[in-house]
Amino acid sequence: MVFMVRMRFLSLAKYFEKLELTSGRIEMTNILVDLFREAKSSEEIAKITYLLIGEIHPPYIGLELGLSEKLIIRSIAIAAGYDNKEVEDFLLKVGDIGKVAEEFISKRKQYSLYIEELTVEGVYNTFDKICRISGEGAITDKVNYLSGLLINADPLEARYLARIADGNLRLGVADMTILDALSIAFGSKEWRKDVEDAYNVMPDIGKIASIIYSGGLEAIKNVDVTIGIPVRPMLAERLQSPEEIWEKTGGKLILEYKYDGERLQIHRDNDNVYIFSRRLENITNQFPDVVEVVKRNIHGERFIVEGEAVAVNPETGEMLPFQVLMHRKRKYDIDRIVKEIPVTLKLFDVLYHEDEGSLIKKPLLKRRKLLERMVEPDDSISLSEMMIPNSIDDIWKFFHLAIEAGCEGLLCKSAGEESIYQAGARGWLWIKFKRDYRAELTDTLDLVVVGALYGRGRKGGIPSSFLMAVYDKENDVFKTVCKVGTGFTDEQLQLMDKMVREYRLDRKPARVESIMTPDFWIEPKIVLEITAAEITISPVHTCGYGVIEDEAGLALRFPRFTGRFREDKAPEDATTEKEVIEMFRMQRKIIG
Ligand code: ATP
Repeated sequence: MVFMVRMRFLSLAKYFEKLELTSGRIEMTNILVDLFREAKSSEEIAKITYLLIGEIHPPYIGLELGLSEKLIIRSIAIAAGYDNKEVEDFLLKVGDIGKVAEEFISKRKQYSLYIEELTVEGVYNTFDKICRISGEGAITDKVNYLSGLLINADPLEARYLARIADGNLRLGVADMTILDALSIAFGSKEWRKDVEDAYNVMPDIGKIASIIYSGGLEAIKNVDVTIGIPVRPMLAERLQSPEEIWEKTGGKLILEYKYDGERLQIHRDNDNVYIFSRRLENITNQFPDVVEVVKRNIHGERFIVEGEAVAVNPETGEMLPFQVLMHRKRKYDIDRIVKEIPVTLKLFDVLYHEDEGSLIKKPLLKRRKLLERMVEPDDSISLSEMMIPNSIDDIWKFFHLAIEAGCEGLLCKSAGEESIYQAGARGWLWIKFKRDYRAELTDTLDLVVVGALYGRGRKGGIPSSFLMAVYDKENDVFKTVCKVGTGFTDEQLQLMDKMVREYRLDRKPARVESIMTPDFWIEPKIVLEITAAEITISPVHTCGYGVIEDEAGLALRFPRFTGRFREDKAPEDATTEKEVIEMFRMQRKIIG
């Protein structure tokens, strides 16, 4: 008989504890390398990585645990033999469900006759079952499964089981850190670029981990787009003027309207259509009308296309701003909303087609031609407006037309042989040119909240300003760039108070680099849109530190919240340090 050795969940919990106590990104990577080397199989390493980020399934699968705090409290009470009320009161006191589970399991009154040692596989599979239970009796079954795990748990295991159940593991480990550690654990640092390329077309950390475990670099290099798994979106750089755009692209470009809607990546696999958001979540339920249109107006049975869904006025057909679409986020009554806020789909790319296979390495014009052949346009679907400019003047003309039509500006896309689809990258193959050009900073920034500060006076007991950070993609850390306390309405401050309380930390998160110390730290999760007057040199911020001047970084002057919470962006999608440095250089060029 072959006896399969499995990793104990207790070993994983001990790694979790170590990770929780680290204060630096490098140390965190080293711990992960040790952990990955302990994995016993490709299935096990996938499960370890999902548990590490506290997600049983990646967001594109659309399966969630569905355990409320109340249910977790009930499970702890059952497993330890206490009343719900006792558990609840203790939670009110300590505020961390993990600590509560740990405490009650350590003083449990109830012991199971047969304590079963928890394994990573067993824990993962039980959480998976919890995700899949639905219908009548679902609540009772979910509680039974979770209390079943807790009955067999050590106090340390209980801490992490409860936090995973609550969707709040707080280890500060993100996908990029895992990619680093995987490269080192099974190959070398040199693998990192290929591993990231693979992740960009298959952003499923568990799948990447098991591919690298079983097939090494060769298998990683063979990863390609797959129907059903969303590709990380290609993004645009920005420039200030048509002159610069012309120069940067050598005049070999196409122009497209930049629609102000929601980006959709649409996968069709015969009768199944899946729609993914910019953050790669499965949002098919929000767009039953788009599903219909895709089946009706796009030729082919198996393909991946991308476009922007734009809300339109049902009477006039005029395009409406992005905010209107937010009403689609509701779970109920979607049929009514679909009628009240119809959308038109503006397709701009195709990434896979049954006859051609993967298209991401093909030049843009070839992809666009195929897309033209695939689509039967009508009021609800068409290709993005496009033109091939012959001069800088053409760019201006098309820009004014775009604004007139209610768009944000233009996307200027390189049309040379090199114009592949760069999954997950913000590169110069796409350049955006937006309307708010030259008003204050050319563009807004999307920044991550990493700390909160209390104000004096009217705002009293709730934080009144926030320490904001950019993302340093190369090092996978967050660096501060300003404090922002302007632009919030009272309601928005209340909302921020609620949100930051959920992510509050007593120590600096390992992936945040900061000179300032806020009143309390916040796990990088919340992304806000910020405008500012300009970028200045600052000795107290870590963004761009040492790049422009030796002992100083860059900061935003007069930063202001625009009122837009960028829930469609993960912290790693925030404005990068590199972009701010570029914006600073552009500003110098203009102002001199
Ligand atoms: P923003 O905050 O300006 O929306 P972003 O970070 O979401 O920026 P950008 O790289 O700045 O993304 O701009 C690309 C976005 O513009 C795409 O994600 C897409 O949603 C939208 N878009 C609108 N029209 C087009 C088009 N014709 N081609 C590509 N993207 C388009």
